[in-house]
Amino acid sequence: MLPVADVRYRCPCCGYKTLQAPGAFQLCPVCWWEDDGQDDGDALEVRLTVNGQLSLNQARANFTQFGAAHPRFLQYVRKPQAAEQ
Ligand SMILES: [Zn+2]
Repeated sequence: MLPVADVRYRCPCCGYKTLQAPGAFQLCPVCWWEDDGQDDGDALEVRLTVNGQLSLNQARANFTQFGAAHPRFLQYVRKPQAAEQ
């Protein structure tokens, strides 16, 4: 069993376990999506908040194509670590 502090949640954008809590406005280091609680149920919505003009769906498509939630974030992101898979 892992200690509780090591429990991680999957990023709704890239799917790696990079977040310590869901919807806690943490910035995912792998895709640079900021987790504001948006998930599958409202993935098409553009909230115009922390993720600007990006819907979760668009961010996911960008991550698949470019490797980040938006191409402009490519300079900040890092590769997922083994424990985050
Ligand atoms: Zn992510």
